[in-house]
Amino acid sequence: MIARVQPLTTTRRLTGPFDYLVEDGDVEVGSLVRIPFGHQRLDGVVVGLAETSDMPDEKLVAPTAVRADSIPRDLVELALWMAEEYCSTPARALALVTPPPGKAKTAFWAEPTGADGRVNDNQRALLDRLPGLAGDDLAALRRLEKRGLVEITQRVARRAPRTNAAADHTVEPTAAQVDALAAIEAAPGEAHLLHGVTGSGKTEVYLRAAAAALERGEGVIALVPEIALTPQTVARFAARFGDTVALLHSALSEGERYDEWRRLRSGEARIAVGPRSAVFAPVANLGLVVVDEEHDASYKQESDPRYDARHVAAYRAYQSGARLLAGSATPRPESVYSMRRLRLPARVAGGRDLPPVRVLDMRGAQHSLHPETRRALSASRKSIVLLNRRGWSNFLTCRSCGKAWECPNCDVALVLHRAEGALSCHHCGHRERIPTRCDICGSLSVARHGAGTERVEDELQRALEIPVFRLDADTAANKDAVPELLARFAAAPTGLLLGTQMVAKGHDFPDVTLGVVLDADATLRFPDFRAEERTFALISQLAGRAGRGPRGGRVLVQTNSPEAPSIAAAARHDADGFLKSELERRRAHHYPPFADLIRVITSAVDAAPARAAAVQIAAAIDVPDTELLGPAPLFRLRNRERYQLVLKTTARAEAIQATGEKINARHFSEAERSSFGMDVHAGLSETSGILAVRPDLVRSDYKTLPNQAGRSLEELREVAASAGWQGYLSSPASATAAYGRDVEAWWIEGFADLILRAVRGENLFVHARVPDTVPPEVAPLIEKALAGEPSYEGQLASSLERRRNR
Ligand code: ADP
Ligand code: ZN
Ligand code: ZN
Repeated sequence: MIARVQPLTTTRRLTGPFDYLVEDGDVEVGSLVRIPFGHQRLDGVVVGLAETSDMPDEKLVAPTAVRADSIPRDLVELALWMAEEYCSTPARALALVTPPPGKAKTAFWAEPTGADGRVNDNQRALLDRLPGLAGDDLAALRRLEKRGLVEITQRVARRAPRTNAAADHTVEPTAAQVDALAAIEAAPGEAHLLHGVTGSGKTEVYLRAAAAALERGEGVIALVPEIALTPQTVARFAARFGDTVALLHSALSEGERYDEWRRLRSGEARIAVGPRSAVFAPVANLGLVVVDEEHDASYKQESDPRYDARHVAAYRAYQSGARLLAGSATPRPESVYSMRRLRLPARVAGGRDLPPVRVLDMRGAQHSLHPETRRALSASRKSIVLLNRRGWSNFLTCRSCGKAWECPNCDVALVLHRAEGALSCHHCGHRERIPTRCDICGSLSVARHGAGTERVEDELQRALEIPVFRLDADTAANKDAVPELLARFAAAPTGLLLGTQMVAKGHDFPDVTLGVVLDADATLRFPDFRAEERTFALISQLAGRAGRGPRGGRVLVQTNSPEAPSIAAAARHDADGFLKSELERRRAHHYPPFADLIRVITSAVDAAPARAAAVQIAAAIDVPDTELLGPAPLFRLRNRERYQLVLKTTARAEAIQATGEKINARHFSEAERSSFGMDVHAGLSETSGILAVRPDLVRSDYKTLPNQAGRSLEELREVAASAGWQGYLSSPASATAAYGRDVEAWWIEGFADLILRAVRGENLFVHARVPDTVPPEVAPLIEKALAGEPSYEGQLASSLERRRNR
């Protein structure tokens, strides 16, 4: 018998499977084996069985060991599908479904035999607590065992994860819940989207759908966003279904994780609850997959394989004919487009209507708090304030020479964290001391731009007499910090919870009467086609947190773009209106769900090989109904230059296949392979930048500021002014944010290229005066270009070409 084994290595180079000789019945698909491989031993997964091999008999060897745990067959199939779908490798995808390391823990179990014997008070107490684990009393119990009073055996002891206790209420379902459940029950194998505001009873529907699945003898997977932020859902599953629930998340100890996995694999537990990786839970006879808060960005894995748990959930449901049930108060446009929608129209059980939302126009404001926000905060006992930016200041510049403090490893600005006394890079973790003077010109005047949560915390603490609880990635560094902080806020008679988007997640604080969004534009400014959807979701979710109690509440939204459709719709609680217009916009611009985006990023220490690889891939990809954008440079990250290529396609399968083939290592030589890395995923971000022009910079004709994604036009103006720049060029992304015009672009290659793109009429926003230091042959062209004379395109392009070739 031949076993086809996929070695579990991370390189793209090794493309198995490879054939090994096995005895009949020794292994099956999903078995984990140890195999001789060249001079080494590797772990591998059996992905197929065959009668014969193309390898000559004398070359075939046998695995050296077979592990007791194995991967269920459908998960092997799932992994192989993922390897292709996400242009990853079988080994990397299989690693996601492989059982966690570890083994079962056994413990001594003692039971009274019922025999009589004289015992003292301590021994009596001991016997009274039996049967049970021996624990620390083992020695004492052994003495009783000798006298025949107890029997001691070894048992598998479950290392159970801690969950928050929650009481389980039995409720009579509302008419809307009854209808939703009936629709779900009536359609096995179908996907439903449960759309209802926070508190409308979605979780109750998940629980009942899960109970129905259990009754049919089926298993359930329930996906939730980060557990630390949404403990309630997990607790309610645990309260209703007890030990039938296995909890899978990253904060488990190795032993707990192993035990939970094994309980599912053996069928002892039938419901897996956890964040995105729980989609790989070994649940047999899967009948229902629930995706709670389906809009949440945490469902997307940001390293290879860059899977989307929602998409994988849909595939698993399809694989096993299970029902898929996604739910949200702010569903994604593509879910609304592709699933059958069930509505839960109102809050149940005495809940209040959604609080009114007021939009506060911050254009021209001097202070980070609008006077009305300040008044409302001092009048409110409990409030939640959201500012999606951590740290003290977002970036520093020198007032005399314009130096901007950047990360040495990445082309991004360093963020000031005052409490730590450090500037830090939010991309690679680089840290350095806060500068007191400019190391280029010696000036003592360093400007701090923008305000993050740390600075606003300080301001609020000074301005109000209310304790401020700050929740962001800095204060939530260890895993117990979040629940502890949330519990303190919940218990406080008065308080203000301030933080990044973490504060808008599933918490339920009935006494919160005020929600505030500072700088609602922060998410809107991101050069990502999901910026609108995220902004709408963030404001709506925050509104869902405020005014849940009998006193009601209200929400204030500070913004520089009060007319932005996503903000205006969120203020009206108009999900349908927003979804409709957002889907129209997506259709017009060929964004998902009307097309798929595939992004390929090549990276290398030097720009040349990264660019060459991207160019080579671009040249090789020829798929119908596919638009190729780039290759375009991205900002440098972790000391690597990066290029990006985007495929916008309506031929998803073909485009994925073509991309997968081209980025496969076989396409490149050994030398090329070692010089660049590859990264593929759908979805876009991080592509904005501004280009600033200084007349006295002789070093070069332009200066690029680090990645400015997320900066407002006001902030850009401020930087330019404080640095003495004559003007600046802003990328289309910033222009989009500033003017609400939908322009699309992926990069800034250089000053002249930018102008060229403007000339080409790509709706680029250009705001600059031509400095006198640009090369003489380019200056007049730029001037014409700025004057809007498109006929100069050819000249400018060829002039650029000449300059490049020199
Ligand atoms: P969501 O998941 O949409 O936020 P939940 O399912 O958590 O809503 O319901 C909100 C609150 O209402 C919970 O406390 C829940 O126990 C309660 N609830 C849900 N359904 C009912 C019902 N049919 N009757 C009474 N209370 C209900
Ligand atoms: Zn300086
Ligand atoms: Zn960095």
